[in-house]
Amino acid sequence: MDFEFKRRRLVESLVREGVLRSEGVIRAMLKVPRECFVLKEYKEWAYIDSPLPILCDQTISAPHMCAIMCEALELDVGMQVLEIGTGSGYHAALCAEIVAPSGSKSNGFVVTVEYFTELAKFARDNLEKTGYNDRVYVINADGSRGIGAKERFDRILVTAAAPTVPKPLLEALKPQGLLVIPVGTRFSQVLLKVKKRPDGSLSVENLGSCIFVSLRGRYGFEY
Ligand code: SAH
Repeated sequence: MDFEFKRRRLVESLVREGVLRSEGVIRAMLKVPRECFVLKEYKEWAYIDSPLPILCDQTISAPHMCAIMCEALELDVGMQVLEIGTGSGYHAALCAEIVAPSGSKSNGFVVTVEYFTELAKFARDNLEKTGYNDRVYVINADGSRGIGAKERFDRILVTAAAPTVPKPLLEALKPQGLLVIPVGTRFSQVLLKVKKRPDGSLSVENLGSCIFVSLRGRYGFEY
């Protein structure tokens, strides 16, 4: 199985479709091995453009959705990124490859929060195997509450569907920062891009419809 060939073919098709546009995101999608973030039994499907089951009834997002979110986030080298919903760790690794490219001395990093202990461990293992554990920090907690600390981030992505934008995450965003999040019901959402202006006010752009697994915890859906 030639994963590199399949990876390149998928990236080329996402470029043709106009989903992938910027150099940093394209480079990261060509570099991060998605086959190392899926369950063993799904490896051969790692490069179909579809979500795949992981542990705890969750899914690794489809590559096109990762691409759309990374493009919307306007990531740049050196940025500090917060992800809520680590899952497999793949999307966090993609963000890390953009803000702190392998082999560079960039001090960009990604903090990612996962609700399920078993998935946090799965992601840590995947990130270690692929060498992203030096730039991605996995926290096992309810990320809908933010990370508590006074830490502020340039970019925040939420990879689970929320009923509304959790307030703690808006507070964790730096002025000029961007937050991308699916908001709606459990069954269908729209992807929102929220920008915090320098004066702290917010502007919201609707990027279209999407379907994610539900956000749990304090600002998520009830279970
Ligand atoms: N970004 C992931 C896929 C996300 S699936 C990847 O690249 O593989 C959504 C993830 O969000 C699931 O792992 C789910 O357990 C997690 N999640 C749901 N509610 C959460 C919460 N309140 N805090 C942190 N993680 C949460």
